[in-house]
Amino acid sequence: MGKPTGFLDYKRQENEAIEPLSRITNFNEFHPFLDEETRRKQGARCMNCGVPFCQSAIKLKNMVTGCPLHNLIPEWNDEIYNGNDKRALSRLLKTNPFPEFTGRVCPALCEKACLNGLDQDPVTIKENELYTIETAYSNNWMKAFIPSVRSDKKVAIIGSGPAGLALAHDLNRRGHAVTVFEKEDRIGGLLMYGIPNMKLEKKVIQRRLDILTKEGIVFKTNVNVGKDITKKELEKEYDAIIFATGSKKARDLNVKNRDCTGIYFAVDYLTKATKHVLDNTEEISAKYKHVVIVGGGDTGNDCVGTSIRQGCASVVQIEMMPKAPDERLESNPWPEWPKICKTDYGQEEAIAVFKKDPRIYETTVKECILDEKTHLIKQDIDIINVK
Ligand code: SF4
Repeated sequence: MGKPTGFLDYKRQENEAIEPLSRITNFNEFHPFLDEETRRKQGARCMNCGVPFCQSAIKLKNMVTGCPLHNLIPEWNDEIYNGNDKRALSRLLKTNPFPEFTGRVCPALCEKACLNGLDQDPVTIKENELYTIETAYSNNWMKAFIPSVRSDKKVAIIGSGPAGLALAHDLNRRGHAVTVFEKEDRIGGLLMYGIPNMKLEKKVIQRRLDILTKEGIVFKTNVNVGKDITKKELEKEYDAIIFATGSKKARDLNVKNRDCTGIYFAVDYLTKATKHVLDNTEEISAKYKHVVIVGGGDTGNDCVGTSIRQGCASVVQIEMMPKAPDERLESNPWPEWPKICKTDYGQEEAIAVFKKDPRIYETTVKECILDEKTHLIKQDIDIINVK
């Protein structure tokens, strides 16, 4: 434990976000890092608890709380406080192959379980993690690890999302020859096309892919396994085949006139938006449109942020469930996952632009009402369905 009184001496301080009206002018990430001294103090807030719930991943009332990777959180917090960034990195990489992704997009189950959260603010675990890996990249400490012994076994991994990449990383390090197949034009699955650029800049993924490629992993894009290559062909060439495909099958709305024009699934919408950012290809643009987003979760929020950046005329997000309380109820104590209302970045931006929260609770779609051209009743209303 770096500083026994750290949690009393220093308050939680997060990377400050660029204010909404500025950040919506582009699709860049918008959380500049704290200076080094302040970050080290954030590491000092960790108490190195005898029972560190932050890394426990226990299930309470059917919900996981604490880090599912069992990251060695108190150890690297201590190293950050003491200025040992290289040692912090080595502890971090023991359990987490891609901290640059989790440090950006993980919902931070660790922080919800952090003991400091019992009566004050939890340690900034997720940002400490991001600081550690980004410090490593900027100091050129992240090198390709090429196995010295190969096993002569060949493995095909179908799907290049986080699961496929983590598998490829681990199996390659064990000496197997790994080939990853991806049906899209870029590697990364939902990391690449499901998460908007402002949450995870795509150059961050490419930076990691460059290392994985140097380590010997072969990536094949635009290959739809089952169509472009058969199961038999794979079985002939590889000793093992692993399915690491996600589920791009959207849950549709079973309502009258659902087949009208102007309704899109969220992943299709977000995919095209990111391709437009990267390649200037055609997007599903919300420019000047009144947008209705069905679904109040993280993906719905990403659609809010994307619609706003595209210049929508208005945005509404509808949610079936009632609004969650602003603070934990007595029936939902620490270290359970807190069932509280969070206002995410897209919703903050909607509030800044349109002066009201886009969310409407306890509401769902009953019917799509059309004009004579089979478009939704107002020519300029589009629905993005995130279910
Ligand atoms: S629960 Fe919080 S204070 Fe305790 S070891 Fe984990 S990060 Fe540190």
